[in-house]
Amino acid sequence: MMNYYDCVVAGGGPAGMLAGLLLARAGVRVVVCEKHEDFLRDFRGDTVHASTMAVLDELGLGEAFARLPHRDLEQLRIALDGDDFTVADFRHLPGRYQHITFVPQWDLLDLLAEHAATYPGFTLLRRHEVVDVVRSGDRVTGVVVRDPDGTTRQLRGRLTIAADGRGSAVRRAGGLPLRDFGAPIDVLWFRLPTRRTDATTATLRMSAGELSVLIPREGYWQCAFVVPKGGAAPLLADGATALRRRYGRLLPDFADRADRLSPQDVSVLDVRLDRLRRWSAPGLLAIGDAAHAMSPIGGVGINLAVQDAVAAANLLAVPLRDGGDLDRLLPRLQLRRWLPTALTQAVQRQVHDRVLTPRLLQAKAAAGSSASAGPPAEAVKLPLALRAVRRAPILARLPGRAVGIGVLPEHIHVPPERVQGLGRSGSSV
Ligand SMILES: Cc1cc2nc3c(=O)[nH]c(=O)nc-3n(C[C@H](O)[C@H](O)[C@H](O)COP(=O)(O)OP(=O)(O)OC[C@H]3O[C@@H](n4cnc5c(N)ncnc54)[C@H](O)[C@@H]3O)c2cc1C
Repeated sequence: MMNYYDCVVAGGGPAGMLAGLLLARAGVRVVVCEKHEDFLRDFRGDTVHASTMAVLDELGLGEAFARLPHRDLEQLRIALDGDDFTVADFRHLPGRYQHITFVPQWDLLDLLAEHAATYPGFTLLRRHEVVDVVRSGDRVTGVVVRDPDGTTRQLRGRLTIAADGRGSAVRRAGGLPLRDFGAPIDVLWFRLPTRRTDATTATLRMSAGELSVLIPREGYWQCAFVVPKGGAAPLLADGATALRRRYGRLLPDFADRADRLSPQDVSVLDVRLDRLRRWSAPGLLAIGDAAHAMSPIGGVGINLAVQDAVAAANLLAVPLRDGGDLDRLLPRLQLRRWLPTALTQAVQRQVHDRVLTPRLLQAKAAAGSSASAGPPAEAVKLPLALRAVRRAPILARLPGRAVGIGVLPEHIHVPPERVQGLGRSGSSV
């Protein structure tokens, strides 16, 4: 197996797979190291937004993407304390898509991996965990990977891309400084069976301080139940009795299904919100969650990761392929992607602080007062933006645009190096 590439990518999530694909398509020899065997494990977000579908169209993958199991969503509605209204309206987005789509992320990643493997310069190494970076003086010149046998070896590259997600080992080893904003929530993630009488669209339900999102998948609902940071353990103690009770109270139509939940059925997802102060160092660039961990609010993390990958390929594919100076260019990626990232995170922090935290505190107080038979907790006032959207539905187009397209959407500018051949020519190990 080769040990020297133009570019080594750590992590085969949306950011790493798309960056690898785009670079290989432009004629760069690139290896993506993914620590898992497949894309099925772990929690993965499901929303693909209009800006990402536009990128897939630019790659000629629009039709293949449309054949994946999916559900389109034209409006995001919220059922809040019994009041039901639209918070984001995607029907007026510019461009080809006037909706967002729910697609199991593993199907999207499989699609990208299959397409990437048709380029001769592309290699995907599964079950290869990056454990360190390699340096020559101050410059990062590759990574140390642990292969499936447990043997470690070096993979060298002119550029190393850290796309290994929120817990990035590469950003840590590369010494990139992190700013942690903290997140007041965690998410409990579990499945409940569907019924013929159920609605078929994604639902966001909020009541008495409790919040859950339900995403329809083939044959089951994927449920995300928001809890205060560190609040999972008491809910899961004693066979998840408290979780079943509280979920049934929030969603009475799901109470009997939730009654069968046991702690083994529930994954606890640690939500983080952070951003690197510096996204690059000589020979090293961080993109996606490795550069800026996103909260699940708005379901925008995949799309920001995709936008980073497109911007990185636009900036670096040609100098990578033709031997140009890279280090001078690397800081430009941060200059380009900082604003969309920082704005999105600022909104997520507002939602954490002004919408979720007061309501989660309210839920806690309600639980406390019912235990002590004291007075019920007072209702928390909605923030102005939500009140405005509720009163004037036309305003829901603004969050629709912010979520569906985002700030400064990227388009692919690097042409493919060759007309794509038939069949596989890259490799996947
Ligand atoms: C609870 C929750 C819900 C969310 N819901 C949504 C949603 O609905 N929609 C949405 O758009 N976003 C959502 N997000 C955010 C979204 O999951 C991320 O922003 C997005 O996946 C980032 O993509 P990425 O490629 O940068 O990183 P990741 O998707 O985290 O991919 C990183 C990859 O690197 C691999 N890896 C990690 N370490 C190593 C290593 N050392 N060596 C090799 N490989 C490694 C991992 O296995 C993984 O495949 C959610 C986040 C949370 C926490």
